[in-house]
Amino acid sequence: MGLTLKEILYTFEKIENKIAYHKQFLTDLDAAIGDGDHGINLSKGFRVAKEKIKDREFKDWGEIFKTVGMAIVSSVGGASGPLYGTAFMKASMLGKGKIEITMEDFRDILKVSIDGIKMRGKGEKGDKTMLDALIPAYDEINYGIENNLSELNILKNSVESARNGVEYTKLIAARKGRASYLGDRSIGHQDPGATSSLMILEVVFDTVNELRS
Ligand code: ADP
Ligand code: MG
Repeated sequence: MGLTLKEILYTFEKIENKIAYHKQFLTDLDAAIGDGDHGINLSKGFRVAKEKIKDREFKDWGEIFKTVGMAIVSSVGGASGPLYGTAFMKASMLGKGKIEITMEDFRDILKVSIDGIKMRGKGEKGDKTMLDALIPAYDEINYGIENNLSELNILKNSVESARNGVEYTKLIAARKGRASYLGDRSIGHQDPGATSSLMILEVVFDTVNELRS
């Protein structure tokens, strides 16, 4: 994998594009079980982040992630802003002095992101949140590294697991966030935050696939 700083900036640019492209879809998912702002929130956060990292020199990826995290926290009002922001800020601490993201780094980024989201939102797997996409993706990456799978296969499997996690959110009731106010009436709808997390993971796979195959 070995993503360079330039490639990491490119990846964030693609994340911003994808979230902006699916802004309405994410907002519609949130309208069904929340307040209909998830796409608006996230696309704003990543747009501000993109502007902050544009035309800047970074000495390590810690600085890039910190800039992105702070931009998201300061520009997104909903629950997802502080949660995604925390994830990127936690990850930024791993990137101090590092000019490349390896597969092991990516695993660790997901690990500290998940821990940060759990700490901040008091959620767990099965609560119908972004964690239901991120935790299966992390488990798959761990499995792939331990079993020496090829990097593209690891990333592809992680996306597949996250996608299954998103599907699973349709079957369960929300226990965290606004959707939890609906209780069992949230069953049958896929979680917007899990969906946006899946989109981010898809971009990572697509970008590495584009750059390395
Ligand atoms: P808000 O709910 O404040 O309107 P958003 O609509 O932007 O914020 O984001 C909603 C998403 O945030 C949910 O779909 C869910 O995935 C995620 N979320 C909400 N609360 C939590 C929590 N406590 N832990 C993890 N994720 C959460
Ligand atoms: Mg919302």
